[in-house]
Amino acid sequence: MDPLAGWRLDQEPYYQPAGREIEAFEAARASRLPVLLKGPTGCGKTRFVEHMAWRLKVPLVTVACHEDLTAGDLAGRWLLDAQGTRWMDGPLAMAARHGALCYLDELLEARSDTTVLLHPLADTRRALPLERHGELLQAHPDFQLVVSYNPGYQGVHKRLKPSTRQRFVALEFRYPEPTVEAAIVVREGGIDESLARRLVQLAERTRRLQDQGLEEGASTRMLVHAARLVRAGLPPALAARQAIADPLSDDAELLAALNALVCASF
Ligand code: ADP
Repeated sequence: MDPLAGWRLDQEPYYQPAGREIEAFEAARASRLPVLLKGPTGCGKTRFVEHMAWRLKVPLVTVACHEDLTAGDLAGRWLLDAQGTRWMDGPLAMAARHGALCYLDELLEARSDTTVLLHPLADTRRALPLERHGELLQAHPDFQLVVSYNPGYQGVHKRLKPSTRQRFVALEFRYPEPTVEAAIVVREGGIDESLARRLVQLAERTRRLQDQGLEEGASTRMLVHAARLVRAGLPPALAARQAIADPLSDDAELLAALNALVCASF
């Protein structure tokens, strides 16, 4: 039985390239180099990885990192059942053992011990020490490590150490060019192009509010959400408020500024 059968993508995930990132990723893979994706939330990093896994025909194991995620969760654990104790690989060990692409989304959200665990896997050793299992797992030749993080909102304690970042090759993601972003919103949101363009213009205006204290402007993901609300029957101004302005901030002044932008756009 293929232990990674459930992790293969059989349909092409739609991905609209912004530059030469597909070629760059393929070159990294050919050289067995781990990849670091940097960029704001909702700009297409996860979709890109899904697309690449499909394109390269490798299974994809995705882990959404969070503050309680430890190195042990990624490596694996002993389980106790009626037959006794048995070892169960964590997602990282499973991907390394059987040759999958392992995507650690928002790596900086995880506890810092996880990044140290990645070091021997992310350099020429390509090995994962499973201390609790008493095993030094040598990664399968098809295994590849991909991690993402958002340089925009890391606190003082949430920085990627040089010893970690220097093991990776990096691809920087930004929000796509307006025409490309509108094409994504048309395709993903199912709305017409003129409305998609107006949503993109609104997003660009919100991104400028970053100078006035907004943590991050509207992402492509938010535009797709707004488009879907319109498709479900909401008027564009209400959809934009619900999917873009209100989720972006709780600060009264910023909310007023965001709502003014929505009113001016529709
Ligand atoms: P991230 O991982 O950067 O937070 P995602 O990859 O999850 O963001 O993107 C959020 C959504 O935005 C996707 O589900 C998709 O609908 C849309 N999207 C963003 N960029 C692209 C792109 N280049 N091609 C296709 N869809 C995209």
